[in-house]
Order: sequence, then C-alpha cells, then structure tokens
Amino acid sequence: MSASKLQEIGRIFREHRRFAVLGHVRPDGDALGSQLALALSLQQLGKEVRIWNEDGMLEKYSFLPRAELLTKPPSAPEDFDVAIALDTAIQNRLGTALPAVRSAKIWINIDHHLSNPGYGDVVYVDPSAPATAEIIFRLINTQSLPFNRDIAENLYAAISTDTGSFQYPQTTADTMEIAAELIRTGLNVGRLNQQLYESYPRRRLELLRELLRTMRFEEEGRVANFTLSLKTAAELGVLPEDNEGLIDHLRAIRGVIVAVFFEELTDGKVRVSMRSKTDAADVCAICQKFGGGGHSLAAGARVVGTLREVEDRVLREVCDKIDSLKTSAASTL
Ligand code: 5GP
Ligand code: MN
Repeated sequence: MSASKLQEIGRIFREHRRFAVLGHVRPDGDALGSQLALALSLQQLGKEVRIWNEDGMLEKYSFLPRAELLTKPPSAPEDFDVAIALDTAIQNRLGTALPAVRSAKIWINIDHHLSNPGYGDVVYVDPSAPATAEIIFRLINTQSLPFNRDIAENLYAAISTDTGSFQYPQTTADTMEIAAELIRTGLNVGRLNQQLYESYPRRRLELLRELLRTMRFEEEGRVANFTLSLKTAAELGVLPEDNEGLIDHLRAIRGVIVAVFFEELTDGKVRVSMRSKTDAADVCAICQKFGGGGHSLAAGARVVGTLREVEDRVLREVCDKIDSLKTSAASTL
C-alpha cells in the first residue's frame, strides 16, 4: 500500500508543472529541511516551485542549502497544479500559507504525526517515521527523483533535529542507513552539527536561565514544567525560535516522565509543549484534550486562557495521567 502511494505521488510529480511546497507555522528543522529538500528535487525535475510557510526561513536555519528559496507566502494567492503539505498534523497549522494557494488541483499530505486525520487527496502519513524528512528520502529514492548534496544536507538536518540527534526511540537501523546514504554525498557532518547545535545566540542561554528560575516539579518529581511569560520574552528580546529544544533539559532529569513548557502568546492563548519518556504517558492524547496533537512522546497545543489558568488545567490532566501509572513500571523511569 505505501509503495503504491509513493508511486502515485511520483507520478503526480512528473505529470504536473506548478507546485507549492508548504510547512507548518512555527516551523522546526524537520519542516524546513523537508520543504527545501523536496522543492530542490522538484526544481531539478524542471518544475516551477514555491516554498512557503507562515514564518518564512528562521535565522537559526538560514545556513541550510538554498535557504533563501523558502519565504513567507504573498498576500495575493497564486495558482498551482499541486499543493504539498509537509510535517503538518492538521491543515490549519499551515497558517497563512493555506489561503496563499488557490485552485490547486491536487493536495498531497506527507507527514509522520500520529494525530494527522488524513486531509487532502493523496495522503502519506507514517507515524513510525521519526521525521517527515525520512519519508521524503524514501520518496526521492524509490521514485528516482533528482538527488544531490544540497538535498542531502537539508534531509540530514531535518532528521537530526527531529530525532534529537538520533536519540529518540523511533530512530531505527533504517534511519541510520538513510543518514549513511546522506553522508555519502560528501556532506560534512562536523560542520553541519556545529551549525545546528553549536551556533546558538547568547540570548537562548539567557532565556534558559530565566526558564530554570520558574522550574517546578509535581508528582514526586515525575512531572516537571517551566514557563515563559510575555514580559520575560520582551525583556530578553527572544525570538520564538529560541526556545526550540529547551524543554529537553526538563525531560533529561532523572525521574521525570513528563515535561511541560508553557509559553504565553500575544493572542490570549498559551502554547503548551509536552515531552514524555514513555508511551504509557501518551502526551499526544493529553494535548488532544486541549485541541492539539503531535506524537506520543512529543506533542503540543495552543490553549485559550491566562498562564495561570492554562498551567492549572493542563498540569491537572498530566498529574492525573501520572497518578494512574503509579503502580506500573513506567513510574520508576
Ligand atoms: P513542539 O513542542 O516542539 O512545539 O511540538 C511537538 C510536536 O507536537 C510537533 O510534532 C508538533 O507538530 C506538534 N504540535 C505542537 N503544537 C501543536 C498544536 O498546537 N496542534 C497540533 N495538532 N500539534 C502540535
Ligand atoms: Mn517532524
């Protein structure tokens, strides 16, 4: 079934001319790298391609090969034969990229989120893939689409960031084999990792210092959380992209099963980000109760309310879940 689906997508690529390659709001390395990789391959195939997401290219990923091709969508919509949503669990997470696409004949949905409901005409959602970029590699590989070092670097950055540098449980032998294939194109792993993980602006660490001041534990240390208020964000001058990955400091604590990060937004909502160490505490299920989604070990939601209200409501759900695990092995992680 999945092989024929990849074939169908390959056929659509060859038969059409104008493509929009889209990704989710507040993009991460997987969204940006997957978008650039697929778009570069389509360009090499001779297609006309736009690469859009609501936020455009982030400063921290602007070293990615051909990063300049990825932009915010224009305010006036454009016509396309095919629109492709990558790494986007629900269609409205395309944000302003959605209304920028008019009259696409075919919508393709390629993703690895468990919570993806399968919107679009052609759907390839593989929740076992650790990154959308792994699916893009399979697509390029099985359909003999154009491939080069620029594409490989984008895919490598995407897979590395979405697997926590090849650490999360969905990282398989296949993932490592794909990484090896990417490295064989001649990409410089040391340089790429320095660009990804050793080039942070100082303000990111200043942000971490403030977050750690708000660190709290519940359930005898099994639940950890910290909070970023609008006031602190303004004082530090942080960008939204600065906090990607900071929640991992909480998950990395011995005994912590679920980590939660609360970020006050300007629209009266709070962005909730969750991480878990075990499928028994499925944070996607918890976030879905608040209108969000994601993966069982990494999920999020945007919840209406003040910081205090959202913290109370969300932590109560998390603690109830952890309480229900108390007798099981997961409680001793
Ligand atoms: P993060 O915590 O890094 O922002 O997101 C973790 C995972 O949850 C990502 O895979 C992301 O796509 C998903 N996610 C985060 N926020 C939301 C949300 O508001 N809605 C949905 N459906 N998924 C989300
Ligand atoms: Mn992803």
